[in-house]
Amino acid sequence: MKVILAKQAGFCFGVKRATLLAFEAAGKDQKTFTLGPIIHSPQVVGKLETLGIHAIDSLEGMENGTIIIRSHGVEQKQITEAQQKNLTIVDATCPFVKKAQDHVKSLSEEGYGVVVVGDADHPEVQGIVSYGGEKVYVVASGEDVRKLPKMKKIGVVAQTTQSFENLKNVVGECLLRGGEIRVFNTICDATAVRQEEAKELAGQVDCMLVIGGFNSANTRRLLEVCAELQPHTYHIETAAEINPAWFEGADRVGVTAGASTPKWVIDEVVNKIEELNKSD
Ligand code: SF4
Repeated sequence: MKVILAKQAGFCFGVKRATLLAFEAAGKDQKTFTLGPIIHSPQVVGKLETLGIHAIDSLEGMENGTIIIRSHGVEQKQITEAQQKNLTIVDATCPFVKKAQDHVKSLSEEGYGVVVVGDADHPEVQGIVSYGGEKVYVVASGEDVRKLPKMKKIGVVAQTTQSFENLKNVVGECLLRGGEIRVFNTICDATAVRQEEAKELAGQVDCMLVIGGFNSANTRRLLEVCAELQPHTYHIETAAEINPAWFEGADRVGVTAGASTPKWVIDEVVNKIEELNKSD
């Protein structure tokens, strides 16, 4: 049985950076917390906990210490609160998310109504929106644009994980509403690249494993993409969940992982499949 690991499996640039910053902060200050989970990986969050870094939901009650800002950013008022409390801030916001926040801020300051293409309930979007003024609107699709009030100047940015097609549709609808339109393509291709590669791999193997947090949206999307092509597709968080029965009769097993899955978790999965292969 051959195990084929997707080239782009696991950490993207922003998650790698955030994780490094968090581990670097460990031990420097006795009171160090992350504002929300640093990334969507229970394994990384668990490892940080063993080093004394816990996730908190708000800064209430925290009067000193270090706060680490998660990769998908937080609302501007939380940064202001941390600054007012004189906390040490380790900003692990992914630079791509930061760019979207900065565009919303400057567009609002320049008098544009801002359209953010994304999922209104997602913490990244809530953070991005918080950098704008009153006229910031989150739309999931082009259809939502038709419900917006008339605006002379419209600025458009996107949640980093949006598809280019959806951004294009929204921009098309904005053009129909007239006025001046400024578009910033703030989509990050890390997710799309992983999905394309996973799709290709799933079509070539007899069984496909997708590793990543059960709470990770990009991992679940990878799972959907693979399952469309390969009915024997399984979602696991760690090697412990592997069921040897999945590989019966399989000659090729594909493995991919979400953008927040650490390398050590991927290595453990690959090693376990190879061990099972030897003991056959
Ligand atoms: S998926 Fe893209 S935007 Fe999100 S953390 Fe990774 S590199 Fe940054």
